[in-house]
Amino acid sequence: MKSETHNQLHVFFLPLMAYGHMIPTIDVARLFAARGVKSTIITTPRNASTSSKAIDRDRLSGLDIDFRVIPFPAKEAGLPQGIENLDDITSPEFISNFGKAVQMLQLPFEKLVQELRPNVIVADMFIPWAVETAGKFGIPRIVFHGTCLFSLCVFESLRSFQPDINGKRMSFSVPGLPDKIEMSMSELPEKSSTTTQFAEVMERIRESELQSYGAIINSFYELEPAYANHYAKVMGRKAWKIGPVSLQNEDTVVKAQRGKNSSVDQHCVLSWLDSKKINSVLYICFGSVSRISNDQLVEIAMGLEDSEVPFVWKQMPLPEGFEDRIKGKGLIITGWAPQVLILDHPAVGGFMTHCGWNSVLEAITAGVPLITWPVFGEQFHNQKFVTKVARVGIQVGVEKWNFWIDAKNVSVKKEKIVKAVIQLMSDGEEAAQMRNRVKQLSEMAFTAVKEGGSSYTNLTALIEELQVNIKTST
Ligand code: UDP
Repeated sequence: MKSETHNQLHVFFLPLMAYGHMIPTIDVARLFAARGVKSTIITTPRNASTSSKAIDRDRLSGLDIDFRVIPFPAKEAGLPQGIENLDDITSPEFISNFGKAVQMLQLPFEKLVQELRPNVIVADMFIPWAVETAGKFGIPRIVFHGTCLFSLCVFESLRSFQPDINGKRMSFSVPGLPDKIEMSMSELPEKSSTTTQFAEVMERIRESELQSYGAIINSFYELEPAYANHYAKVMGRKAWKIGPVSLQNEDTVVKAQRGKNSSVDQHCVLSWLDSKKINSVLYICFGSVSRISNDQLVEIAMGLEDSEVPFVWKQMPLPEGFEDRIKGKGLIITGWAPQVLILDHPAVGGFMTHCGWNSVLEAITAGVPLITWPVFGEQFHNQKFVTKVARVGIQVGVEKWNFWIDAKNVSVKKEKIVKAVIQLMSDGEEAAQMRNRVKQLSEMAFTAVKEGGSSYTNLTALIEELQVNIKTST
């Protein structure tokens, strides 16, 4: 039974059409619905049909959650017909067209706001116009950041420090942060017309965040307390840390249904993992958007062979002949992998990741230490968090920020890959300490989302505050 009451809070969720943003936003919408809030997720037709399974069970159990669709203006924005998600884009030249299409969603979105009159808009950081829309309708906009507080603090610090105008120093300490964080210039985007455009977008996002009611963060206080305090006290911004939101998916079926349809039968993956020893398997996945060059893939394949560690590798395409050579030693998933299900399996003892925040947090939640292989975006920040702040992973040794596609050539030779894999997957002292630390963080994550835990309490406080707002405005 749906329990719509006169004063029921109604929240619109507007995710960016990219899996790294849609998946956690849908989890957030489900968390709100589980607390009696009417949650409406606004997206485009194909994205809604791919993601609808994620909410089917909630709807069946009577929660007030649904999708509303608006058309995606691919053609109008100069994109090939059929593209609706960043995942559909195979060439970086279309990124700005994709941004244009997202911009064009404002009008149809506003029509829906007019029609359904939500009380709040939770919109992705990459949709800065949502603040204008919220302003027009006199309701709050809350920004959803796909990333962690540490990374947001680094961005702000770099923004005021402007390392590129500080002479020719190749490496520097990011100023004003609770920890000493060393970065090198090569870990930041080089100046180019694309990155300048991106910097302008980031500036718009920042302004929009400053005008927003606050931010929802997929993290938990105990994971990054110093940065939660820095964000609030030094940066003066309001945030509700309500994660890890992936813990909303307790059931095996629901875990396997996050994002796209899994390209493998979950039972095959689980029974393959069941045949391996505890903590013995390395899982490798570079997220939903980053691409790795073919030459680099060959180097990874050789590194995996030489390290002799069993692995599950989500990758497409693969170096020729590799699949035959690794029969029995590794499982290749040439499509969408049920990532959370894999990470949660006791046989998985390491994760080589591109450091997208969802992947990092999902690994920490599962108690799995990491090998970091950042490509672009804020992934180099997340790498610092993993290796220097939480100290639950090791760097493979990527030195350079690459726009979206790490296609230049081979950035990491197989020797480095073997070294990192053996270092993490061995029984050595350093690996054991990392494993202990990540297990402790995993326990804290579970506690945070339980009744009385920090994330649980933060969500209660946010919903109560928003409810008070509607009462005073009606
Ligand atoms: N993911 C998945 N299967 C895949 C690839 C990705 O389930 O084959 C999920 C992953 O669990 C995470 C999200 O997609 O929730 C990727 O987000 P992340 O921030 O790690 O990286 P992005 O794809 O945004 O670069």
